[in-house]
Amino acid sequence: MGKPKAKVDINKCLACCGCISVCPQDAVNWFGGKAFVNDEKCISCAICIRTCPVGAISGEVY
Ligand code: SF4
Ligand code: SF4
Repeated sequence: MGKPKAKVDINKCLACCGCISVCPQDAVNWFGGKAFVNDEKCISCAICIRTCPVGAISGEVY
């Protein structure tokens, strides 16, 4: 429901922790050694997308 959520491409993610530290909703967690967005918490603010150094996060709303 609502806006599309941020998504991490696990093939690109370098596990740098950047997105996890900047997310205001604490919506990014570790899953299998990669970042993973919890759709229940994500408010589609796009901060993580702008933060990721390798462009591993995408979203439709931005
Ligand atoms: S879009 Fe915003 S709320 Fe959603 S995971 Fe990224 S930083 Fe967190
Ligand atoms: S900022 Fe990008 S590379 Fe770093 S943990 Fe998040 S998705 Fe992975």
